[in-house]
Amino acid sequence: MNGDNGIQVYPTTTWSAGAGCHGACGQKLYVKDGKLIKVEGDENASWNQGRACPRVLAMTQYVYHPDRLTQPLKRVGNRGEGKFEPISWDEAFDTCEAKLKDIREKHGAESVVFAQGTGRDVGGPISFLCYNYGSPNWVQLGLSGQSCYTPRLGAMKATIGDFCVLDASQFSEKRYEDPEWEVPKVIIVWGQNPPPTCPDGFFGHWIVDCMQRGSKIISVDPRHTWMSSRAEYHLQIRPGTDGALALGMLNVIINEKLYDKEFVEKWCYGFDELAERVQQYPVDKVSKITWIPEELIIEAARLYATAKPAAIQWGVPICMNPEGTTVAQAITQLWSITGNIDVPGGNVIARPSHGVTTYPYSTEELVGLYGQELVDKLNKVRIGCNDYPMVKGFRGWAQPDMVIDQINNGKPYPIKGAWIQTANILGGQAARARLHYEALKKLDFVVVVDLFHNPTSMALADIVLPAATFAEKESFRSWWVPLGVMQKTVQVGDCKSDWEINIEMANRLNPNCKYKNPRELINDRLSVANVTFDDVVKNGSQMMPPEGDPSRPYRRHEKGLLRADGKPGFTTETGKVELYCKAYESWGVDPLPFFREPAQGPVSTPELFEKYPLIMITGARSHLFFHSEHRGIPWLREKNPEPYVEVHPETAKEFGVYDGEWIHLENDMGKVKRKVRISLRVHPKMVHTLHSWWKPELKGSEPDLFGVWDYQINQIVPGPQDSDSGFGGGQYKTTLCRLAKIND
Ligand code: SF4
Repeated sequence: MNGDNGIQVYPTTTWSAGAGCHGACGQKLYVKDGKLIKVEGDENASWNQGRACPRVLAMTQYVYHPDRLTQPLKRVGNRGEGKFEPISWDEAFDTCEAKLKDIREKHGAESVVFAQGTGRDVGGPISFLCYNYGSPNWVQLGLSGQSCYTPRLGAMKATIGDFCVLDASQFSEKRYEDPEWEVPKVIIVWGQNPPPTCPDGFFGHWIVDCMQRGSKIISVDPRHTWMSSRAEYHLQIRPGTDGALALGMLNVIINEKLYDKEFVEKWCYGFDELAERVQQYPVDKVSKITWIPEELIIEAARLYATAKPAAIQWGVPICMNPEGTTVAQAITQLWSITGNIDVPGGNVIARPSHGVTTYPYSTEELVGLYGQELVDKLNKVRIGCNDYPMVKGFRGWAQPDMVIDQINNGKPYPIKGAWIQTANILGGQAARARLHYEALKKLDFVVVVDLFHNPTSMALADIVLPAATFAEKESFRSWWVPLGVMQKTVQVGDCKSDWEINIEMANRLNPNCKYKNPRELINDRLSVANVTFDDVVKNGSQMMPPEGDPSRPYRRHEKGLLRADGKPGFTTETGKVELYCKAYESWGVDPLPFFREPAQGPVSTPELFEKYPLIMITGARSHLFFHSEHRGIPWLREKNPEPYVEVHPETAKEFGVYDGEWIHLENDMGKVKRKVRISLRVHPKMVHTLHSWWKPELKGSEPDLFGVWDYQINQIVPGPQDSDSGFGGGQYKTTLCRLAKIND
């Protein structure tokens, strides 16, 4: 679209590096003389309706930042010395090809791990490269227990057969005006504060939109947040006890017969077993476990169960509970037995828009993309598959805690190389960050694909490849609606898109690689929707499923629109929502939900709690930063210049610290610097601190690594995952610590 003064305006979708988030908003990119000059929310995008967050508004500073990596680099000094030299793409690709082929020949393809950070569009390209190389070890390295969404996805897939999401009318182009949609009367916002961010295919402000239309809020959060301050009930929970709360609420709803009897009778399997199990969780017991007053649990359960429709919006703390999959299971049971599934304003079944797969979320999708034979072959050696049947049965990732152990001990086979793509493992997601640092340093060959140098690239990379933001590349997205594409509007240096880099490498490593360039792949994947990349661009870079399309929600289980055989019901073995989960049973996981205390805490480790009497919560999302990104973006950093820790006034008094003081958070694993922010937002027995801090303005070479060992909180978060299924239980919200004066 041409505007005034030679300015061209390109509508595009954002899911990628740049904004960094999990959302799919439509943004307008203003380009003049080949340069991005401004970003504005696209009012034609039904997903965000013209709105934009601070990170996307700061894109011009991100795209043209002087620290951007703009050409391939090779390491010329010792690893970690910070000495790199620019090279051509040809030399970079040739080196990667030669080294990776050499490892494959000598040790097998499984000896290279392909590590990604959280979400975004890198999952498609990295799994594509990993499988074309022949390695099964695609992994979110460092993310203990894959404790981010995967446990929730696994629980939904196993018990319901599909993924569910709160219905804020996002499946309809008419949005809130669609007559079929209903406002959720009550929303439980569980472990999340959506407005500052756009989590997992969800635009944070939808919650506010629903509140403006009458939704009442029940907030489950250990902190006082914007959301909890506006809630009917704030259940200020002890971190890591969400499973007990869910079971206590189920207890109330079942014993008071507040569930939807018709739905349960017709569409649920195993209700009697669940009813028996929840008797182990009477409210008085649950109150003692969770620190939430009994009457609040009862009243909140009643409010949720008697409002129709009602919905639950949940966050990553669910996954970080011990046995995150079982906690997620219990919460899905709340929306299932109250009949709030697959109905307007409830939790609706979400499938990729138009049936297009961009990123394989489940084993089913992996098989669809790569074939059962290859997936079976890779599963034989994928790290964690033989130890955790759920890792094998759901999702294609290797188990991250086992991967780092295997890198260390070389058993059952050695790991020799890593391809790390937009994942700041050391400065970001890795619990036991120092263990990861020591282990990864021993590898023979490490490639880092990223947009900026960071502690990981500086400490480990042999080759650095410069990646593109969403403004600089062609890509696509279908998680869940709309079907969106990113169109390339500008070029920065020699940066290439993740798809470009990985398809080039895949062709070099596999002569039978199916696609020669990103367009071929994208158009092939879009063909199930009978559209091309150009068609979607012409439509404003986003498309919604048309009226009557089977991928639109509401009562699809009744109409036979979910199951492959066309019969009514859900896509589980029994055709019902499995309250007693047959898939869990077959994987050796308890088929019914249960509660287990966190590995560290006042109950499980009272002596440690005496020494370290504060429960440390980390990982809350920020509207300024996406995990470890954006610390160098002036507009964003200005608003939050230092990593702080929120400390209750009573706690500050007890430890003798004052507001603004630099202190250490410490435990037996080490100590990390933080600036005290005295705040009533936190409970006196808890502290809350920002995660993934490092400072790009500090020296990058070792030992400094941009200050990562001063500020990276995850170096005092223990591992491995606190979960028997292999999913969930990253201890990011339940680690014990204390405050210490820096001079002490
Ligand atoms: S956080 Fe939300 S508004 Fe910002 S870029 Fe992501 S989807 Fe768009």
